[in-house]
Amino acid sequence: LTVLGLETSCDETAASVVRLAAAGAQVLSSVIHSQIDDHAAYGGVVPEIAARSHVEMIDGVTRRAMSEAGLNWSGLDGVAATAGPGLVGGVMVGLSYGKAAALARGLPLIAVNHLEGHAVSARLGAETTYPFLLLLVSGGHCQLLEVRGIGDMSRLGTTIDDAAGEAFDKIAKALGLGYPGGPALEKLAASGDGSRFELPRALLGRKDCDFSFSGLKTAASRLAQTCETEQDRADLADAVQKAIARQLAERSERAMKDYAEQHEHRLFVVAGGVAANKTIRRTLEDLATKHGFAFLAPPMAYCTDNAAMIALAGAERLEKGLVSDIDVAARPRWPLDEARANVDPVHK
Ligand code: ATP
Ligand code: MG
Ligand code: FE
Repeated sequence: LTVLGLETSCDETAASVVRLAAAGAQVLSSVIHSQIDDHAAYGGVVPEIAARSHVEMIDGVTRRAMSEAGLNWSGLDGVAATAGPGLVGGVMVGLSYGKAAALARGLPLIAVNHLEGHAVSARLGAETTYPFLLLLVSGGHCQLLEVRGIGDMSRLGTTIDDAAGEAFDKIAKALGLGYPGGPALEKLAASGDGSRFELPRALLGRKDCDFSFSGLKTAASRLAQTCETEQDRADLADAVQKAIARQLAERSERAMKDYAEQHEHRLFVVAGGVAANKTIRRTLEDLATKHGFAFLAPPMAYCTDNAAMIALAGAERLEKGLVSDIDVAARPRWPLDEARANVDPVHK
């Protein structure tokens, strides 16, 4: 199955063609136009600017993805587009473009939950089998999920306040780093030693798998004001990165223990933008090994937003016959464990 994927839920306009075969997924093309420069002056993503830029870019980005894949439209089996969650103005651009393309070419449309895209993204780099335990850490989400298959996931825990990526971004801003803050903070942390900073540890000893990052965010942002030298800032960045890694590991460890009691096939996957962080990847890999889990993270290029993960989720859905109505609506909010069928409850 060969599927075109479209992603426009935040500040990347992306299109990709993915082929799903018995041997696994093959990315034929993956084009990403980042709007970072459009939003940089505002210190964050401005929804109106994002939507307008998606309108300008979507056609060119899609044409490039098709030509880099060496395909014409008759070579496709379906068109997948992110239908939420995200900034609804942007989501509507990609979804409407996908609907038009599907209608014009007589192809099935597959509306994909953006988080489901992140959930399957590790499968773009390695052949894997379901089920697996997933830590999804992105700009807007921080969740532990049991993933039994496409459209069949349940949530074991979630953040009660901020997402990990959001904490990286806000603390980076307080440290005077640009947006997005995660990569910049990681770079700064490389020359730091955070051992002199004491940062709060949230939810210690709690029996569930929830997360909390707002206490850390507030404490670190306050400490950032007291930093005088570049070395002070690097030290704080290192402390923050380690504190975030530690909380992700503590909560994942709890989930692993429960999961291991119920499953023989033990695979732990981390996905989402924060999974690009090397300290976090290493910490989680060590933890997985310690608990007898195989470990998998997406190739670096597919951690942050991309359309290959949307094309793959679309192909997996298409394989199961989970296609969408052409009048499916964009959804600003859309919990992952409700991503079950083709389905937009609003229209059913
Ligand atoms: P969501 O998927 O929840 O809707 P999003 O699409 O904006 O949110 P992603 O693109 O998956 O999120 O990830 C972006 C986030 O990942 C940002 O918060 C960014 O700071 C963070 N991030 C990216 N690279 C790194 C890194 N190397 N270290 C830490 N954080 C990172
Ligand atoms: Mg982005
Ligand atoms: Fe994302």
